Amino acid sequence: MELIILGSGTGVPSLKRGSPGFLVKADDQSILLDGGSGTLARMLLAGVTYKDLDAVLYTHIHPDHCADLVPLLFACKYQEEPRQKDLLIIGGSRRWPFGQGFRNYFEGLRSVHGKWMEPDTFRIHISEVADDEIAVGSLLITVLPLDHAPESVGYRITSPQGRSLVYSGDTDYCPNIVELARGADLLLLECSFPEGRKVPGHLTPALAGRIAHEAECKRLCLTHFYPPCDHADIKGASRQVFKGEVILAEDMMRIAL
Ligand SMILES: [Zn+2]
Ligand SMILES: [Zn+2]
Repeated sequence: MELIILGSGTGVPSLKRGSPGFLVKADDQSILLDGGSGTLARMLLAGVTYKDLDAVLYTHIHPDHCADLVPLLFACKYQEEPRQKDLLIIGGSRRWPFGQGFRNYFEGLRSVHGKWMEPDTFRIHISEVADDEIAVGSLLITVLPLDHAPESVGYRITSPQGRSLVYSGDTDYCPNIVELARGADLLLLECSFPEGRKVPGHLTPALAGRIAHEAECKRLCLTHFYPPCDHADIKGASRQVFKGEVILAEDMMRIAL
């Protein structure tokens, strides 16, 4: 299994850090975890096109995480090289009492864009998840709701060989992220702001380290850096709490699992 960081940033435009997007290559599967603006082109640097993706997993429907969905589906209609295989799109379900789930978001987009995002040469399968286990090819995907937006979920991808990658999307500290990340080979965790600048619904490096420590993860990769993170000792603050390896995500970084 290999993780490729397409974007280690946020919704703030940056020449250094693209919007959230992560490519997982494992067992003949290409899976996109979130897909903010610009991730489709970044995928090309990793040798994966709009035709190759098997599944897209969205953690939540904030624009920095899903802005490339319409461009992806529009690209699939390119007549010279149309996409042929079916596409699985997974997103969080609506949770009482607030918010709407991924399917509602998708239907909203379709009501605006109509046929420009409707496939001609393949089929889209949409799956709404919250507390679930699903198979994507030979990979097992475990899902748990996280504490950020009403539809927020995190994903744990387990390979047939037993290797595990956990991705939080955006989240605050909550028991579910610790449970989801339990014993993971790699925890890809958001770290939006430096110590002393905590924002509700997001993590700081020490909180991220606490999650990795409590979950007894093998390695921790921090991502989703707002600009102030580039002027702070993120790794040091995290390593005070988590004694394992801490990686600060950079765009196009590749991590083998
Ligand atoms: Zn975000
Ligand atoms: Zn968000």
